[in-house]
Amino acid sequence: MTVSLDDLPIRDDLRGQKPYGAPQAPLPVALNVNENTHSIPAVVADDIASSVAKALHGVNRYPDREFTELREGFARYLGHGLDAAQIWAGNGSNEVLQHLLQAFAGPGRSVFGFAPTYSMYSLLTKGVGSEWIAGTRAADYSLTAEDAAAQVRAAHPDVVFLCAPNNPTGTPLSLDVVEAVYEATQGIVIVDEAYQEFAPKSSPSALTLLEGRPRLVVSRTMSKAFAFAGARVGYLAADPVLIDALRLVRLPYHLSALTQAAAVAALRHSDVMLGMVDEIVAQRDRMTAALTELGYRPYESWTNFLLFGGVTDPAATWKALYDRGVLIRDVGIPGHLRVTAGTEAETTAFLAALGELGRP
Ligand SMILES: *Cc1c(COP(=O)(O)O)cnc(C)c1O
Repeated sequence: MTVSLDDLPIRDDLRGQKPYGAPQAPLPVALNVNENTHSIPAVVADDIASSVAKALHGVNRYPDREFTELREGFARYLGHGLDAAQIWAGNGSNEVLQHLLQAFAGPGRSVFGFAPTYSMYSLLTKGVGSEWIAGTRAADYSLTAEDAAAQVRAAHPDVVFLCAPNNPTGTPLSLDVVEAVYEATQGIVIVDEAYQEFAPKSSPSALTLLEGRPRLVVSRTMSKAFAFAGARVGYLAADPVLIDALRLVRLPYHLSALTQAAAVAALRHSDVMLGMVDEIVAQRDRMTAALTELGYRPYESWTNFLLFGGVTDPAATWKALYDRGVLIRDVGIPGHLRVTAGTEAETTAFLAALGELGRP
């Protein structure tokens, strides 16, 4: 007799839910989950490896529960006068976001985000037993301060996610939206800056708004610009009191000694780790021009990926690219697909494969 999930005494609110499931396939050109597709330089990899090797000698003991050296490293990297007491980190920013929801959402509470946005927000929300409320955006996926604040005021959520720039659309978010949303709620406002390093250098971070706003959180990740997705390291900056709330819900010693050693070493080389960002942005802009030329409609992007519309049959186009060894992402928006900016060769391979399919 085979058992199905429904036969188990699983939580009622998890019945029928689908897990996060971006397809993982070993194709030569993988441009589907917005990784930095450039591997880290060998000299940096060697330094990280020797730091991890040193940490291995101490793995019989629990790691520093407060990951102090790593928090100091992130404070230094972020600048803006931040210190280690304002920093938190986890195994990917997904864990950091989960800590926030465990502390500030939970059963009977609600979490708000402007759809379409990062698919993990609703999954993490349901995982802690909260209600997910999807707000709306303009046709080009932009948000104005007035509209965003009005929507948040009407929904009175406990937590608001602002993805800046937004995934899966690439859309920039100006700081006046953050300020207006903060004023429109008594809840926690999380600005997810996973892609901030790909934004124009002159665009200010929400880190500049932290002073005097104890309910504001700015989250970052090493998974994208830092080329460190496989190491699983994300972090945030907020008021030290808010950080204390996260200590109530995290598992003890949640960041392994090996992860801490690897991340501290990588941060020592942040200039090199971030060295490919300009090249990736150049490939993104090259794709914008080429996709337009092919007859598609790419959206403005401040990230390392592009959402493009004008796709007659996204599932068929996705499969045709797959069959040509190119993996991109169908994010479920009718008529649209999303592609990560890769190396110059990967970008060329994607554009050539798409070109072979003819006009959209
Ligand atoms: C990729 C991504 C993350 C990063 O997740 P990690 O757990 O740090 O790998 C966070 N937020 C958004 C919007 C993303 O696209």
